[in-house]
Amino acid sequence: MPHPLVPVPTPETQPFWDGCQEGILRINKCLTCGSAYFPPSPICPECSSTDVEYFDASGDATLYSYTIQQKPFFLWGSEGPRSVALVKLAEGPMLTSSIVNCEQTPEALQLDMPLRATFVPFDEITVLCFEPAEQQS
Ligand SMILES: [Zn+2]
Repeated sequence: MPHPLVPVPTPETQPFWDGCQEGILRINKCLTCGSAYFPPSPICPECSSTDVEYFDASGDATLYSYTIQQKPFFLWGSEGPRSVALVKLAEGPMLTSSIVNCEQTPEALQLDMPLRATFVPFDEITVLCFEPAEQQS
């Protein structure tokens, strides 16, 4: 049985998790009103239409806000502090994630800094994180 903190894909979210596995940020778009949204849902949060689909987002984003969690979280393999960030995707939706491949300090984590999606193995699945956009991985 997976650890209780490991996300469990559902039929509605499976395309998102498959995208993570492939290194693609896959989110929903409403075909009625055109809005892009996250988290995955079969119903548009803007207009309640069920005429929605998945599409491959750019993976480009900016850092909207964050906090730094000082207590190490063994599941992430992190020995030290870890960011919990509010990230704004280029397509519009905001989501909570972690900023990786960068110092977890206020000096390194600058608001509005350009980010890009990156995918990190986590227990039995692959999760969405973000890293500074100028960094080569
Ligand atoms: Zn809609």
